[in-house]
Amino acid sequence: MNEQQRLLAVENLQVTFDIMPRNAWPWTRPQPLKAVNNVSFTLNEGETLGIVGESGCGKSTLARAIMGMVPSQAGKVMWLGEDLRGLNLKQLRKRRQRLQMVFQDPLASLSPRMTVGDIIAEPLRTHYPDIKGAELREKVDAIMDRVGLHPHQKNRYPHEFSGGQCQRVGIARALILEPKLIICDEPVSALDVSVQAQVINLLKSLQRDMGLSLIFIAHDLSVVKHISDRVMVLYLGNVAENATRAELFANPRHPYTQALMAAVPIPDPERDRANPPAELEGDLPSPMNSPSGCVFRTRCPLATDYCSKEIPVLEDKTGAGHWVACHYVEREEKLN
Ligand code: SF4
Repeated sequence: MNEQQRLLAVENLQVTFDIMPRNAWPWTRPQPLKAVNNVSFTLNEGETLGIVGESGCGKSTLARAIMGMVPSQAGKVMWLGEDLRGLNLKQLRKRRQRLQMVFQDPLASLSPRMTVGDIIAEPLRTHYPDIKGAELREKVDAIMDRVGLHPHQKNRYPHEFSGGQCQRVGIARALILEPKLIICDEPVSALDVSVQAQVINLLKSLQRDMGLSLIFIAHDLSVVKHISDRVMVLYLGNVAENATRAELFANPRHPYTQALMAAVPIPDPERDRANPPAELEGDLPSPMNSPSGCVFRTRCPLATDYCSKEIPVLEDKTGAGHWVACHYVEREEKLN
């Protein structure tokens, strides 16, 4: 893979929020909440990276930090070789033409006072004020058609559309500036299963036809399986595992990934009875009070004393791009 094909390289990105504890005294200092901790990954042109983890694992914060929508305290967000963290707001807005986002709640993410035609046209009006009249209408009609909406619906308001249609409006709005990358933050979580498949298929066809790259965030591994080339598993703001889709699903190595896999329903009750899945126990700890050592240790069936003392380093355990942060996998490799 040569450097020209690399779109995004996130290096040791760190996002911390200062949170005031509940019932705190007025003189109490805010406590740091590490939402994203030393996250690194790369994304190439035309590639889809799936990001999974339970709610509260830092997936959405990571997406917003990449976009510059929340401040990050350390690390780099290299977009086409340029660090977005070093740019001012005006420069960042310009780069965002090629770096768009689709949000989780389709209806809530669209302005209820604007027609869908105006919602889709808004980014074009902002970035290219010279495009107006018939040319603007043509572009909006074409993109509505491309995402499976009828252009004659452009004078309607978001509340007149179903959830799936609203998500298509959000995708059309993201596409109108011809981006290179779209970050989809749980774009199907709020949709019915049948509509989820339609939206995923739409994103896949757009990616194929337009050469788009996608970052696809979900809390469900079975959803990212259908769309991702690589999958990155996040736990409490840390990368637990990052591998190609084929490798991750064939050989999940981190105990957290294995637990997420076990939670995916298999349409074969016989197999489930023969091999009962090891379920993930307990709740996600508060990121304001992360466990020492390995952050997963309080829920990990393989945890040892050593896990509470040493933070596992994210390492390529195969030499072929299968990254895992677990002492146990390291030991297993040494025994082999
Ligand atoms: S480092 Fe220890 S606690 Fe963490 S995932 Fe590996 S075995 Fe479990």
